[in-house]
Amino acid sequence: MTDNQQAAEKGGMPAQGDSALGDRLHVCVGYSCNNNCIFCMESDRDTRFLRLKAQTPEDVRRMMTLDPDAREVMFTSGEPTLHPQLPEYIRMARDIGFPTVGLITNGRRLAYKPYARELLEAGLNHLLVSVHGPNARVHDMLTRSKGSFAQALAGLANMASMRDEFPGLMVHTSYVVNTYNYKYFSEFFDAMRPLRVDQHVFNVMMPDGRGSQNIDTLMARYRDIAEAFRAFSAGLSTEGLSKVFLLDIPYCTTTGLPDQVRGYVERYFHYETGGTVSFGNSGAEQARPGNDGTLMQLSALAGEGSDYDRVAKGVHDAMLRVKRDECAACGFETVCRGVFRSYIERWGWDEFQPVRKDASQGA
Ligand code: SF4
Repeated sequence: MTDNQQAAEKGGMPAQGDSALGDRLHVCVGYSCNNNCIFCMESDRDTRFLRLKAQTPEDVRRMMTLDPDAREVMFTSGEPTLHPQLPEYIRMARDIGFPTVGLITNGRRLAYKPYARELLEAGLNHLLVSVHGPNARVHDMLTRSKGSFAQALAGLANMASMRDEFPGLMVHTSYVVNTYNYKYFSEFFDAMRPLRVDQHVFNVMMPDGRGSQNIDTLMARYRDIAEAFRAFSAGLSTEGLSKVFLLDIPYCTTTGLPDQVRGYVERYFHYETGGTVSFGNSGAEQARPGNDGTLMQLSALAGEGSDYDRVAKGVHDAMLRVKRDECAACGFETVCRGVFRSYIERWGWDEFQPVRKDASQGA
């Protein structure tokens, strides 16, 4: 059952985080990237390179064994397929016992079929491939990497060709929605049809990192995105509708959409090697500034002197988002994280009107 179907079966809105498949641990391993996306949230690439280059296989193993409740691991950050030990890490995750072992990737290296097969044989069973347009013109412009679209599609085609051999594999795409691509949802969906993709996740761009630096040219209005998505989803079959999901957009702007495609933000956590924070009690939660100046939520997992800081995105988001007094009357108030402050500073509150509580209970 897809995430959308699960949400629909519950008879209501997908609550915040419902799109995540269980408790998702992100393990950052990609210290570099062969794309150069204009909206990349990881703006401090030098720090990332130094931190992840120093990370050892033992670090990765320990991160994957710290939280017994984690059910899914996703290798990410930069481009994880550029890390020479990725197959080893995937095998490690499978042997530790994660039911779901995933990869967030631009898909380019998957164009090499022996490599794609190696990852599947190591235990990869969830793939999230970033494709940001229906064709090379749009995608390569956004990634600023000529040939990236052709390689990503070749990678998806390779995976499709091996689906019968690896029946547990789930393949999702991720499309960062911005001014340059929000009018092409249907074209994108059609371009993906031959590739046996289970779900298309459309993440509205967050004005963070490079997305923040380029907000004036990249940030589309939520109301325009919602209308384009409404027109797109209205033309889908029941099966098609079960495959698409619009995330990272306030609920009050998407009231015209079918409930099953509406979501807010995905939930996950990751660890950073640190040891700079001391914790009084195991399990206590604290917050401190991260390397990029934003606030991170930390949970001590190994007590005083922990080598790893658990980082959740909730506090980071809270720093960047705001609500207004009227939001208190909104039926989505408890699941809504607010609107990016930088968005409100440009366009104001007009498109964010509280939704009646009864209307927010789902159809
Ligand atoms: S709480 Fe405010 S921003 Fe969030 S969905 Fe409701 S009206 Fe919109």
